[in-house]
Amino acid sequence: MSHAPASDKTCPRCRTGEVLAVLRLPHTWTNTSGRPVRGIREVHLCTHCDAGHPIVTYFAIHGSARPEHADFLARLLRHWTDHVRPLVPDENALRAEADAWCNGEL
Ligand SMILES: [Zn+2]
Repeated sequence: MSHAPASDKTCPRCRTGEVLAVLRLPHTWTNTSGRPVRGIREVHLCTHCDAGHPIVTYFAIHGSARPEHADFLARLLRHWTDHVRPLVPDENALRAEADAWCNGEL
């Protein structure tokens, strides 16, 4: 676990772990006046929230990405993003995020 002061790599969910990867997913929803609003949904891969994930385990062992493991890491990342994407069309999640956006919580 890192003892570095909080930075933009600190996980916004748990504020404990370190963010190893960020997936930015563009998405669109319709606001109350019926106009489409475009936004970015960020999904974080965190050493704390996602403990046990193969990518987290990799960095726990190696400390940083090694060039000779690029293909292996790319496969792990692709596997991660494939599992994150199906969450996006969730209507309730989008509505909750839209509400938070309007309330200035994002
Ligand atoms: Zn976290």
